[in-house]
This record gives sequence, C-alpha cells and structure tokens, in this order.
Amino acid sequence: MHRRITGKLVIATHNPGKLAEMKELLAPYGIDAVSAGELGLPEPDETGTDFRSNAAIKAIAAAQATKLPSFADDSGIVVDALDGAPGIYSARWAGPNKDFAAAMAQIERLLQERGATTPAKRKAHFVSALCVAWPDDHLEEVEARVDGTLVWPPRGTAGFGYDPMFLPDGHSRTFGEMESIEKHGLPPLGLGLSHRARAFVKLAEICLEPR
Ligand code: IMP
Repeated sequence: MHRRITGKLVIATHNPGKLAEMKELLAPYGIDAVSAGELGLPEPDETGTDFRSNAAIKAIAAAQATKLPSFADDSGIVVDALDGAPGIYSARWAGPNKDFAAAMAQIERLLQERGATTPAKRKAHFVSALCVAWPDDHLEEVEARVDGTLVWPPRGTAGFGYDPMFLPDGHSRTFGEMESIEKHGLPPLGLGLSHRARAFVKLAEICLEPR
C-alpha cells in the first residue's frame, strides 16, 4: 500500500539548486518542507551503487535523525559514449569547488577522445531517483529520466550543474537556456520534462494530494 505524505516533510539535500527545485515542485501540495541543511543534519556517505540506493540512504538517514518523513533525491547525468559516466559520480566530477564548467569540459574532452563528434554519438540522459522514508522504515521510491544530446560549447546560464550542455530531445534550447518552469514542464504546462519533474509526477500520483 502506498502511503500519503501529510504535514511536515524533511528535504534531505544540502544542494541549494536541488532544494530550490524541490520546494517549487512541492509548493502546490501544501507540504511544510524543511531542509536537512536548515536542521543541521550531517550528510551521509553515498555508498550505493545506483541512484535508487543513494536516494534511499539519504532519505532513511534523515528520517531516523528527525523522526519525520524525509524526502531525498539522487540524480546525475549518464553519457552513453562514456559507458554511463559520470552517472552516480556526477556531483563528484565537479570537485570540492563544485566547478561544473570544469566537469563539462572534462566530459567534452573525453567525448572528443572517443570521436563522439556527431549528435548521434553524444546521447545522454539525466536520471532522478526519489525516495520518501518514514521513521517506521516505510519507503516510497520512484525513478525517471530525460533523454537528450550533449552540445558544445555549453549554452545558457539558467539552472545548475550540467544544464548548459544538455539539449533535451525534441527541443532547440538547452536546460541552461530554459526558465525553471519550462525545464520542469509540469502540468498544466506540460506532462513533465526534466528527469526530476517526471519522477516527481510519479511520486505525486502515489503520495501527494493537491491542496
Ligand atoms: P547528487 O544527486 O547530490 O549526487 O548530485 C547529482 C549531480 O548531478 C548534481 O550535482 C548535478 O551535477 C547533476 N545533476 C542532477 N540533476 C541535474 C539537473 O537537473 N541539471 C543539471 N545537473 C544535474
């Protein structure tokens, strides 16, 4: 049986870009969202081998520490020509200074080394795994992706992370060139475009009720 989220929800992220997106996505549901950063919770080690298990590690740690339902996401970019890298290590590729210009340049260098110069050879997708954990160990988990092509040079200054390099299929502007409302493409404006929005739509279906 799926369980509904009511009242307070801890958002188990220390990433301000993701926190802002999560708050925006949760706003229509009247959820009282408080972040792990605001509560001073430590960041657990992401020792999982896939997005889903890392999301669960973060959500379970926050639920145990706060005794409140806790919500976490794990996400990243998976590049076909790089055998799936950086994948779950997407954040780490930016280093301690979170230098995503350098991380994008690193991807581009590797693509060039592998001769991935045509759009067909530059396919990538973002993945978002979401997990809500309750203090009694109940879990709700969903996962979604958005497919696209990597462009060079990066385009646009909106969004965060690898957005300026990612051109979603069927669109002519990168995520870095889109307002967040367009990047998410949420109902009623769309059926979910970004990986996070698509996962969120799935989670909303099973765990949330509009206000
Ligand atoms: P984590 O989920 O905290 O491990 O971090 C995932 C990393 O993947 C982020 O730091 C970004 O670099 C990248 N990422 C995830 N979602 C997005 C997105 O929507 N746009 C751009 N980069 C993203």
